[in-house]
Amino acid sequence: MNVVVCVKQIPDPAGTMKLDQSSHNLVREGKLILDESDSYGVEMGLQLAEQAGGGEVTLVSMAPNSETSGLRTALAMGAARAILVSDPGLAGTDALGTAKVLAAAIKRAEPDLILTATESTDGYTGTIPAQIAELLGMPSVTFSKKVTISGDNVTVERQTEEGYEEVEVPLPAVLSVTAGVVEPRYPSFKGIMAAKGKPVDELKVTDLGIDGSAVGASGARQEVTAVTPAEARKAGEIVTDDGDGFQQIISYLERIKVI
Ligand SMILES: Cc1cc2nc3c(=O)[nH]c(=O)nc-3n(C[C@H](O)[C@H](O)[C@H](O)COP(=O)(O)OP(=O)(O)OC[C@H]3O[C@@H](n4cnc5c(N)ncnc54)[C@H](O)[C@@H]3O)c2cc1C
Repeated sequence: MNVVVCVKQIPDPAGTMKLDQSSHNLVREGKLILDESDSYGVEMGLQLAEQAGGGEVTLVSMAPNSETSGLRTALAMGAARAILVSDPGLAGTDALGTAKVLAAAIKRAEPDLILTATESTDGYTGTIPAQIAELLGMPSVTFSKKVTISGDNVTVERQTEEGYEEVEVPLPAVLSVTAGVVEPRYPSFKGIMAAKGKPVDELKVTDLGIDGSAVGASGARQEVTAVTPAEARKAGEIVTDDGDGFQQIISYLERIKVI
């Protein structure tokens, strides 16, 4: 069972995010980290390969400046290798362009299964998984919470608002994995040391046979036209309890139709 896990390397969400003033895009410079959302896919990929009794997990990432910090974290968890696509010509690439690059890189690994998160922490369009599946001509299952391989098929419990659906599709397939479905392992010291020597195959757009004009700013069909700060949270209402505090709370809950 060879599994590809797409991992996005993102600016640390605990830090201050900066937007480019003219393009309104997130400034991705300096050290990038493994998107926590993708640690669930990495863990699930490792578990599926272990259960199958063979095979390995290959990471695929597109990131600027030959960034590998986030990849090294996932390699330390146990992934065997990584494919990184990093090319100045990719600056300004929109979601579909990103999916084209990732799909071409995934093809090289000839996987049985492709895992992604349902959405990234810094972009969260949630469109990449289905776009990759469409480009590769594979079935796509989103919001996967439990994944079981049976022969040439994969059975997925797919999270819905009411519960879950059971879906079976033939392999290879692209599954997006919801956060919290598995407990991502902490990289051990041995794993961190081993990760330093694991292969990271760095590719340019031309290595993937992609027409350069289909990606980057020139190939982008999306444009961020404006960015508006989120509305600041309004101050809460303080209820002073002069003996009728409970009555005030009940009246408030009735007013907002909670009771
Ligand atoms: C006009 C425009 C210009 C842009 N320019 C840039 C730019 O110059 N540089 C830049 O970095 N971004 C740029 N972006 C953002 C970039 O297009 C998105 O971050 C990217 O398309 C992924 O979208 P998302 O994060 O919403 O993915 P989602 O669909 O929310 O991601 C779902 C999952 O797909 C996988 N995934 C997504 N992206 C990657 C990735 N890069 N590598 C590996 N796995 C991935 C992960 O598993 C992720 O959790 C631009 C966007 C627009 C609209």
